[in-house]
Amino acid sequence: MQKTVALVAHDHKKPDLVKWSLAHKNELSKHKLVATGTTGSILQKELSLDVHCFKSGPLGGDQQIGALIAEKKLDCLIFFWDPLNPAPHDPDVKALLRLCSVWNLPVACNMATADMLITSPFFVEGETYHRDIPDL
Ligand code: PGA
Repeated sequence: MQKTVALVAHDHKKPDLVKWSLAHKNELSKHKLVATGTTGSILQKELSLDVHCFKSGPLGGDQQIGALIAEKKLDCLIFFWDPLNPAPHDPDVKALLRLCSVWNLPVACNMATADMLITSPFFVEGETYHRDIPDL
């Protein structure tokens, strides 16, 4: 059972996400990867893996990933957002993080949490984590 994993990084955090993704390439390669536009095209090149690219974050990519969450088509979000620089699409960023809470979706916003998430026994291919999805 492959999981669908979304990867997003703001511009100043893209090098961190590339570094993290290369370190975990073997595990990531077992799952379906989706990403916002620029993040996805960089990862595709750096990892030589297939990454489905949505629109760039400021052009609606964050919202497209949010739609996946609402449709229960996403299993995990790795979101290296930038706490030190303002983003033009801050409302979208907030909305995406809000949906992770609404739908009880595992989300890592920094490298340490992402390390713990990807090394969790629940992350292993074939392993199912029964996420408690609120009945709203
Ligand atoms: P990007 O979008 O991958 O297209 O840069 C990320 C974001 O800013 O949300």
